[in-house]
Amino acid sequence: MDDDMDDHPEPRDGAVVLGAGVAGLLAARVLAERFDRVTVVERDELPDSGPAFRPGVPQSRHAHVLWSKGVDLIEDLLPGTTARLLAGGAVLLDLPRDFLWLSPADWFLPVHGARALLGSRELLDRTLRGQVLRDARIRVRARCTATGLVAAADGRSVAGVELRSGERLPARLVVDATGRTSRAPDWLAALGHPVPATTRYDSRLGYSSRSYAVPPDPARRWRGMYVQGRPDSPRGGVLVPLEGDRWLATLIGNGDHAPPTAEEEFLGFARSLRSPALHDALRDAQPLSSPVGFRNTANERRHYERLEHAPDGFLVLGDAACRFNPVYGHGMTVAALAADALREELRTLSPREVPGAVRRIQRSTAAAAETAWQIATSEDLRYPQTDGPPPDRTTRIMQRYMSRVIVGANADPAVAARFFGVLSLSATPDTLLGPATMLRVLSRWRRPASPHTTPYPSHHAPPGARQDPKETA
Ligand SMILES: Cc1cc2nc3c(=O)[nH]c(=O)nc-3n(C[C@H](O)[C@H](O)[C@H](O)COP(=O)(O)OP(=O)(O)OC[C@H]3O[C@@H](n4cnc5c(N)ncnc54)[C@H](O)[C@@H]3O)c2cc1C
Repeated sequence: MDDDMDDHPEPRDGAVVLGAGVAGLLAARVLAERFDRVTVVERDELPDSGPAFRPGVPQSRHAHVLWSKGVDLIEDLLPGTTARLLAGGAVLLDLPRDFLWLSPADWFLPVHGARALLGSRELLDRTLRGQVLRDARIRVRARCTATGLVAAADGRSVAGVELRSGERLPARLVVDATGRTSRAPDWLAALGHPVPATTRYDSRLGYSSRSYAVPPDPARRWRGMYVQGRPDSPRGGVLVPLEGDRWLATLIGNGDHAPPTAEEEFLGFARSLRSPALHDALRDAQPLSSPVGFRNTANERRHYERLEHAPDGFLVLGDAACRFNPVYGHGMTVAALAADALREELRTLSPREVPGAVRRIQRSTAAAAETAWQIATSEDLRYPQTDGPPPDRTTRIMQRYMSRVIVGANADPAVAARFFGVLSLSATPDTLLGPATMLRVLSRWRRPASPHTTPYPSHHAPPGARQDPKETA
């Protein structure tokens, strides 16, 4: 180990986690089961008083859904988190039951699918942080930027991290969870270690989001809405409830269809979706913020799990290792799956053994991202402008089958439940290949996969055509 670090007060037996996002916080929680001291290094100032925007998580201005698998894993790691989120104003909904949801084929029926937690990303971060920091073994050093890794004297291991201030934090294990702006490949190269290969698929999806006060409407039966785009009409939008009686409207579009950030164009784009429902909901709602865009949405995997000569004592988790087109809502749930995989790996290791086990751990945490990666990349490859390796034969067959699954799920509650089980990462895709599901799916094989759809679903009449329940009572 570097001699300079010997008289530093940080215990070298501790772990250091870079980044206090969802992946970093969950990793810190798990590492505290093995290490006496876990230090989370975070570049941003962390707001104490309540949920608030911070520059390190710019995506918090856009709709975030936490699928049931993520909710359950986080609850298991940090009991009481769901109740705290609900007390803070988040809601647990059943999708598509509680949503108006136009799939790439047709509208889903209001049937049971999967639970999802909806609320602001700021509320989620603040609540998770509060829960994680109740553990006295974990502390956060805010306003500290990590700038590199520190090599151990053996040349094979990482022995700590360097901060912008020049300070060095020694650690037995360093975890990079700095998200999509991670510099870990540069840091490894600077120490003479190999850098990971990257696989990237970019469907050039753009986001634009704006919050609104929820207008009162006693006849409204839905809590949110999702109008999906599809390759022949690549514009979509989602409306999710936020705490404080707000909606967050996120418009999305691929390539030249990226949504505008000009206030006066926001509603016009919403009107151009495959259904007018989202536009109609927003038309008379009071905007609470200006539209904000986000463009850097490619799926990108850095294959740390394939590095044969990676240094001991260094792991990469969360978006820093694998990030997804956010439209599938998987990043946070995958961070929870990876934390769970890390926990499983650590069960049999002493702190001294962890640095040498990082390659195995990196493979397990990468495997936790596999289903989400398959879903996101094979769906993105339906869009002709997607950059990336072309789909292989299996992917093309799966794409065709999944189109039929969606047609089936639109009409058959049993198929819908299985489809949402997979989408929420609660079940693996092979559950859609079981004989019972296949029979149900194939029975609707002749139905068009891209039908002409009605502006509103049959279970929800358009505004104006609806009667106020008081009038019918
Ligand atoms: C537009 C958009 C919408 C999304 N929607 C969803 C959704 O609906 N559902 C879902 O599950 N996921 C969604 N995601 C993905 C989700 O936000 C991430 O997958 C999830 O937050 C895990 O990210 P992370 O913790 O790895 O990184 P982040 O959340 O990005 O956190 C990284 C942290 O590291 C800090 N940091 C960065 N560099 C340094 C440094 N050098 N030193 C110290 N600290 C540093 C940052 O300040 C930040 O706090 C979305 C993403 C985007 C971009």
